[in-house]
Amino acid sequence: MNALEQLAEAFFTIELMTSRQLMPYPHDPFKGGAPWTKHDHLSVKDRLVSLSGFSDWEKGLFESTISTFGSAPGQEIAFTEALRWYALSGHSMAGVFELAGLYKIGNGGMTSFARAILGEYKGDMVLETTVKEVRQNSSVVEVITNLGRSIKAKYVVSTVPLNSLSSIRQSAIAKGHINKGTKVHFKLRDTEPGWFATADSRDSAYVFAFSDHNGTHGLNASGTWCIGFGYNMGLKDPKNSKYIIDRFRADIHPGAQIEAYATHDWVNDPYSKGGWACWGPGCASAFLQELQKPDGRVLFASADWADGWRGFVDGAIEQGQQAAQNVVALLQSETGILRPKL
Ligand SMILES: Cc1cc2nc3c(=O)[nH]c(=O)nc-3n(C[C@H](O)[C@H](O)[C@H](O)COP(=O)(O)OP(=O)(O)OC[C@H]3O[C@@H](n4cnc5c(N)ncnc54)[C@H](O)[C@@H]3O)c2cc1C
Repeated sequence: MNALEQLAEAFFTIELMTSRQLMPYPHDPFKGGAPWTKHDHLSVKDRLVSLSGFSDWEKGLFESTISTFGSAPGQEIAFTEALRWYALSGHSMAGVFELAGLYKIGNGGMTSFARAILGEYKGDMVLETTVKEVRQNSSVVEVITNLGRSIKAKYVVSTVPLNSLSSIRQSAIAKGHINKGTKVHFKLRDTEPGWFATADSRDSAYVFAFSDHNGTHGLNASGTWCIGFGYNMGLKDPKNSKYIIDRFRADIHPGAQIEAYATHDWVNDPYSKGGWACWGPGCASAFLQELQKPDGRVLFASADWADGWRGFVDGAIEQGQQAAQNVVALLQSETGILRPKL
């Protein structure tokens, strides 16, 4: 960890400006002149190549660690995207893994979290329905579903993710974000002490993997549950179990006795078209503010263009709260009255 921290400090210091000076307000990135934008064209690899005083092994270790941010090799991830994670985490690599990886939602994980939100919701709901088209005029927005149903409202908040939005809002986001990685949950036969591994994109289909827990049934440990993440398009076919298992053994854990695995094909899911958002060089300075702007009566709220924890649930909450506040203010200024259902 010491080697990583030392390299990180040098990596995130450019032209005598430290990471704190380059990105002083990671939750409000354009505040204070945004010196980071000057380096937004750089990839993680560009920056590593220009860095002296570190061995190739140290640089390789650092690159594979940063690759975990977007399931991608260093040339695909923006330097400023890595800087954002580092700044959000208190300017330390230990902080990154503590904040992004250590804490879990107990008693049912994301499913219980989603159910808790649903439990508080009092509005109308339509499930299993795709939005095909959004039309608007100066006083109303009309949402057309795949079944031809029309839903009208004064304002609409779209949470459609960046990569799925391309066909609707093409101009700002033709590039999308870069994360086309695969997440695979494994059940290993043997109960193992905790571990964490990263691997190099030149010879590994997996970018990283870690043991998650040793079972949740009773007091006796019952094998190891672990999670592996593939490099962008490194594990293209989630049903190719031989490849997924063989590569896990070759790239991450040679002796693993794999009893089962489960995965979801986020890359080919038409409603996500990728993993958590991670942006390539030149994107944040060009697109972030544009993506956050409303288009007439349609507001856009997605973790994919959050200011702070972009690509995280916290980013979705940040954007959702912001959009809700904006809609309330717009309705109040327009009608003077507000009768919320929520
Ligand atoms: C494999 C993986 C691992 C992750 N791990 C973490 C983690 O450990 N911690 C963390 O904080 N975040 C993690 N994330 C990221 C996190 O899940 C997302 O950032 C967050 O869920 C985004 O929330 P959102 O509301 O912006 O979008 P979403 O949760 O993507 O919600 C958008 C909704 O819009 C729907 N939709 C899309 N298109 C249409 C359409 N045309 N019509 C109707 N509905 C549509 C989608 O089905 C979806 O339900 C992970 C993501 C992935 C894929």
